[in-house]
Amino acid sequence: MTELTDLYISEALDLLEKKEISSEELTKAHLKEMEKARFLNAYITETPELALEQARLSDQRRSAGIQPKPLEGIPIANKDLYCTKGIRTTAASKILSNFIPPYESTVTQKLKDAGTIMLGKVNTDQFAMGGSTMTSYFGVTKNPWTDENGEYNLVPGGSSGGSAAAVSAGLCMGATGSDTGGSIRQPASFCGITGIKPTYGRCSRYGIVAFASSLDQAGPMARSVKDCALLLREIAGFDVHDSTVSDLPVPDYTKALTGDIRGKKIGIPKEYRPDGLNAEVARIWDKGIQFLKEAGAEVVDVSLPHTKYALPVYYIIACAEASSNLSRYDGVRYTTRVDGKTLDEMYENTRTDGFGAEVVRRILLGTFVLSAGFYDAYYIRAQRVRRLIYEDFQNVFKTVDALLVPAAPTPALSYEAMKNMSPVDTYLGDVFTTPSSLAGVPALSLPIGLSNNGLPIGLQVIGNHFDENTVFQIADVLEKQAGFEKRPHRVKG
Ligand code: GLN
Repeated sequence: MTELTDLYISEALDLLEKKEISSEELTKAHLKEMEKARFLNAYITETPELALEQARLSDQRRSAGIQPKPLEGIPIANKDLYCTKGIRTTAASKILSNFIPPYESTVTQKLKDAGTIMLGKVNTDQFAMGGSTMTSYFGVTKNPWTDENGEYNLVPGGSSGGSAAAVSAGLCMGATGSDTGGSIRQPASFCGITGIKPTYGRCSRYGIVAFASSLDQAGPMARSVKDCALLLREIAGFDVHDSTVSDLPVPDYTKALTGDIRGKKIGIPKEYRPDGLNAEVARIWDKGIQFLKEAGAEVVDVSLPHTKYALPVYYIIACAEASSNLSRYDGVRYTTRVDGKTLDEMYENTRTDGFGAEVVRRILLGTFVLSAGFYDAYYIRAQRVRRLIYEDFQNVFKTVDALLVPAAPTPALSYEAMKNMSPVDTYLGDVFTTPSSLAGVPALSLPIGLSNNGLPIGLQVIGNHFDENTVFQIADVLEKQAGFEKRPHRVKG
């Protein structure tokens, strides 16, 4: 039998159902793998006792003949941005490094209710700001894929880099991520796994440490399209605690995986093929287009004319919202306080000490674009252009069912390369993911092939609002054609 940590969620559910494996065995196998792979620094907090207790209870439910829950006994990890009651939730920051939430986020509660086992909380860029996990107060996560010399020198992407690394290395079967401007899709591409940012409003944001509220979206990351469909089915849906969440019924996404996309019309936006597009990424994209044609889909050229504004618009809006959201960390509420002689000095000391450089940069930028003299020139203008980007997508979905575009402009980069980049250069890495975030449409990233030096490269399938079904349907067919079964070298222990 394949190793327990290599199983897909769909396979494990089957084996659990047939009583060929127990959740306790499955959980123990993952805990063992986590121990071996600690040097990857995927987890900020491991919760082995909790996991084993949950696994035993799950096994007891099964042996008592109780109707199994939809994800009964499946070990998963949660991004450390999701509040978990009684379990430290840091947002990978110093300021929340001792924060123990008194409540549970809706998404993690739903996963618990679905019978999953929580192995721990995984690393992220600080407050989900970044694309490498290098801004984490708890140190970088290593990509389980190695460079050409077999060294663990590559970033896993971010901000959900801990989730992606853990899923890729077999340190959990699936994980939650969050995506504001690409944080599920880009790390999925860097680590050779699958992740979906659903439609804005599909999942509740309640209990997720806020970065930019009009963009933040929860979503699953796993090793197959089907596993993502299984996870999203559980975490999506109405919630009284989040006024922006939709009350549309949640479909059974697994039913969308028909294997047949004949007659589907798929758009290839020309703005995503700039001069100088990385040749490896272009090759994989062409391969994806070829797969679609072979599967009987109709591939057409389309245009999203305002695409080039997405990156600056994203960074204005995301930073503006971040500056407002992060004002709550003042040393009065929530953990770590650094005292001062006056109240103002206490705020200053607390925030100077508690936030990393990238977070400070964004608070400054956001405060600036919201300031009286510049509000109209930056923030209001960005909001207007956001509307145009949204309309681009609305228009294009009048003629096509979905779009196929790259997930990231390069395969995973090395720490060295990232360290030498300016902040603005690192922001360019979000060029393919921010437009769909601004428009609020669903986008899934899945691995299609490898670069010449053996690193995974993903493509995004983007769909219309609340049409995750079509996204899953197309991605499932692409997955089968790509036959991407590759995993990073097993970590030796
Ligand atoms: N890399 C992007 C940023 O730094 C996206 C982050 C995210 O989606 N959370 O803002």
